Amino acid sequence: MIQFNNVSVRLGRQNVVENVSFCVDRGEICVILGKNGSGKTTLLKAISSNAPYTGCIMADGRDISALGRRERAATIAFMAQNLPSPPVSVERLVSFGRRPYTGISGILSPEDKLITHQVLRQTGLEHISEKRVDRISGGEKRKAFFAMMLCRQSPYILADEPTANLDVIHAKSILEMLAERKAAGDGVITVLHDINQALEIADKILLMDSGHAVFFGSPRQFCEKNFPFSHFGMERLECTGSDGKKQFIYR
Ligand code: ADP
Repeated sequence: MIQFNNVSVRLGRQNVVENVSFCVDRGEICVILGKNGSGKTTLLKAISSNAPYTGCIMADGRDISALGRRERAATIAFMAQNLPSPPVSVERLVSFGRRPYTGISGILSPEDKLITHQVLRQTGLEHISEKRVDRISGGEKRKAFFAMMLCRQSPYILADEPTANLDVIHAKSILEMLAERKAAGDGVITVLHDINQALEIADKILLMDSGHAVFFGSPRQFCEKNFPFSHFGMERLECTGSDGKKQFIYR
């Protein structure tokens, strides 16, 4: 389980995240929602070690600030929102996910290579594995970084807007892969902007507003408390799914 206990982040003169507490178990997906500037990215940066925070973040009962860099990287894989464009092949980028296990040499073992190829296949990137990351589309690059995160094979994955700028088919495949990680027993924390995507995959929703967590609970509670309308101004439409069951979508 990952637990945030009263986590606050101050950047410059601003309290960007204030006293946020929530937890995500293995085998669960927590989606962080909130308007732009509400502190979602900063919250993820606290755990991925780029932002200094107060309070406590625990992973499987251990304070992450006490973990060494490699141990932390092997426990939690993170995919940032703003991605660089390194002049390396997609395959090489994906293999960087194995870094915590390769030692200082960075030399991939046969097992590291096998995992890299499995992930390339699983993410549908095999056909562009030789292409350079700085010469592929924005959507392909996002998928390649997503694959790098999966290649880590860590029990917790954190993805900041992994579906941003992806077409419908690729966004759907990313959400399916997150669901697969959950089914395999990983804990997933992801920022999404699409309420319907969030309601589809989330076990828990954390709603951020001006640096505060204003809601943490199940998608059902999120809807019952009318947050889609009160916070995002979205109206609810009732429809019938292909299985004949009543469903709600928000627009
Ligand atoms: P979100 O991901 O919800 O869009 P962010 O976490 O990126 O929000 O930003 C939250 C707030 O923190 C914003 O008001 C932003 O301007 C501010 N902020 C982000 N990075 C910095 C920084 N390095 N220094 C000062 N303020 C920052």
